[in-house]
Parts: sequence; structure tokens; C-alpha cells
Amino acid sequence: EDYKSVALVVGVTGIVGSSLAQVLALPGTPGGPWKVYGVARRSRPVWFSKNHLEYIQCDVSNTQETISKLSPLTDITHIFYVSWIGSEDCDINATMFKNILNTVIPNAPKLQHICLQTGIKHYFGIFEEGSKVEPHDSPFTEDLPRLDVPNFYHDLEDILYEETSKNNLTWSVHRPALVFGFSPCSLMNIASTLCVYATICKYENKPLVYTGSKASWNCYSDAVDADLIAEHQIWAAVDPKAKNQVLNCNNGDVFKWKHVWKTLAEQFGLEMVGYIEGKQQVSLAELMKDKDLVWDEIVKKHNLAPTKLKDIAAFWFADIAFCSENFLSSMNKNKELGFLGFRDSIKSFNSCIDKMRAYRFIP
Ligand code: NAD
Repeated sequence: EDYKSVALVVGVTGIVGSSLAQVLALPGTPGGPWKVYGVARRSRPVWFSKNHLEYIQCDVSNTQETISKLSPLTDITHIFYVSWIGSEDCDINATMFKNILNTVIPNAPKLQHICLQTGIKHYFGIFEEGSKVEPHDSPFTEDLPRLDVPNFYHDLEDILYEETSKNNLTWSVHRPALVFGFSPCSLMNIASTLCVYATICKYENKPLVYTGSKASWNCYSDAVDADLIAEHQIWAAVDPKAKNQVLNCNNGDVFKWKHVWKTLAEQFGLEMVGYIEGKQQVSLAELMKDKDLVWDEIVKKHNLAPTKLKDIAAFWFADIAFCSENFLSSMNKNKELGFLGFRDSIKSFNSCIDKMRAYRFIP
């Protein structure tokens, strides 16, 4: 086939990687037709088999393995780096990214552009260190200075700036808000986490109880559809106006968790219990800590695609989202540069539910 561009998606089974794999394969996608190489740590999951791409199982924290599996890919034109190790450790995350760049840059002479995905933790600090630093005031804009606290995003950016300037490549840094996606192979998927929670409530005949803070229940939040991030990264990869820019990425609207809760309860036919003033809150991680076997039963009973609770749900992550407030980011720079993509956040959340049902990750 005659391809115009060749993508290497690092983290292809993840929440954004799986959307990138789908969007890159669409006929009208800018820069296309795209050939896609997708890298992930595990072997190709069964649910992933529909995607049209060359799947490469590779542990990119391992330098030798990365060289041996990725140096033969000499036709790559664009890198989409949408991965992390699952810990906020700066050294391992930096090594993974360096292994990719040190392997691909010398071997792929047609390489043009590198998209690096980080996130809005840039503005309030990583989870482990976040409480030690005063967050920036929101709405967050891309020009805010780095916070004075270790953050692997800084390491990744520095590697990106150094390697692209040395090798005359273009780059873009993408800072998504909370991501709404459908992948069950993500370390932080809020939509799958909440769908699994709702499924367990249904199975146990319990109401859907909100476990977060009063502030998070009532305040405006923002999020971003994984497909929109894919469109954003592809736009940056091909449009000259987006070259060498740091860009926030959200749906372009706001929502409240109380609205998501209503939708979630409706979708699963559950009674909903919102935030209750004065009631002692139990964390979702605590509520769900013994549910691994219950999930196995549900998977069996409904003949779902096989998943393990610890893979498909990250209750700790919901607990963080449900105590956050005032973390909105600005899309003004994007609009000024010509990116006008948006989603309705409630529709976006519902479309994740639909996709998870279609893939049979939930009943
Ligand atoms: P993810 O957890 O959904 O997926 C990670 C992907 O990387 C998977 O495909 C996994 O197989 C792969 N991977 C992990 N370790 C690997 C290794 N050693 N070798 C090869 N592949 C490996 O990823 P994500 O959530 O899109 O995270 C990417 C970045 O986006 C992170 O910096 C994260 O902080 C940021 N971010 C995430 C969210 C969110 O809601 N998930 C929101 C904002 C920012």
C-alpha cells in the first residue's frame, strides 16, 4: 500500500494509544493514509485484534530489547509517545522515552515530528509530590513556569527539546486534562473505573454512592475525550502552526461530577446517592478493596471479555479525581493556533460506556 505517513504509537493499548490506533486508521485522517506501528508491554490483547496495525510487544524500559525490536522500523515519520511506566519515578520514565528516541532517530531517516503526551499534573505537581507544592492558579495556561518539585514530565520535556533540536525535528507537547476513554489496559481510566464500580453496585443491589468531596461534587471540572486527544496529536503532527508548541487539551466545556453521576446511575439502572453533608466519606479504593472475586463472577456470569479488576479499574485514581477542584485548563492557545476540536463531556462519557459495552468489557 502507498502510505503517506508512518506512525509509531508507544503505549498503543493505553487509554489514548488505543484511540490513536483507531483514528489514524480512518480514511479521512490528516496526513494519511497512515501506516501504524503500535508498541505495548503486553502481548496483543484479544479485544485489540480489530485494529489495523503492526503490533510490537516490547518493554521499552529495556534498552537492548527496544533496540532489537524497534531499530528495524526505518520508515517511521512520526512518533506518538503516550506511555508511562505506571509510577511517577523520573528515572524509569526518562529511560523509556530515551530508549525510543535513541533507537528511532538514528534508524528512521524520514522521521519528522515527535508528539509527547504529559498532562495537567504539570500545573499542580505529581500525585506523590503534589501536596508538597502550591499548585498554579487555574485556568492553567501553557506559559506557566514549572513548579519547583520533581516531576517526570520535566524530564520528558527536556529529553524532547534536546533530541529534536540536535536532530532538526519538530515536536509538540500535549497536556491533556482527565481522559475519558475505553481501554481496559490503562493504568488510569476514570470511565472504566466508574463503569466497573456501577456494575458491581448493580450486581450487589446497592445504590451508586458518590465517595468524593463536597467541593468536587459541586465545582466545575474538565476532561478530554481520548479520540479528541488523538485528533489533537495528529493535527500537531501535520499542521505547521502547531509545530514546536506546548498545548493543553480538553473537551472545551465544563461539567460537574453530580451530572456524570446522574448519567452513570441512569445508564446502569441504579439508585443514586450524591454527596451528603456531614456524612463520613469512605474512599472508593476502600469500598472496592475486596471485590476481585466479585468481578471475576460478573465477568463469568455475563460472558464478558476477560479482564481482571486491578487492570480495568483504578479506584485510587477516582479518589484523586473526586477530591480535586479548580484544575481547569485553558484552550485559548489552541484556538488561536487553529485547533477548534471539542466534545460535549457528558456525551463523551456516555460514548465511553457505549464502547465498553460494545467490546463486552461491562454488561
Ligand atoms: P495508559 O496507562 O493508558 O497506557 C500506558 C501504555 O503504555 C500501555 O499501552 C502500556 O502497555 C504501555 N507501557 C507501559 N509501560 C511500558 C513499557 N515498559 N514498555 C512498553 N509499553 C509500556 O497511559 P496514559 O494514561 O495515556 O498515560 C500517558 C501519559 O498521559 C502519562 O504521563 C499520564 O500521566 C498522562 N495523562 C493521563 C491521563 C489519564 O486520565 N489517564 C490524564 C492526563 C494525563
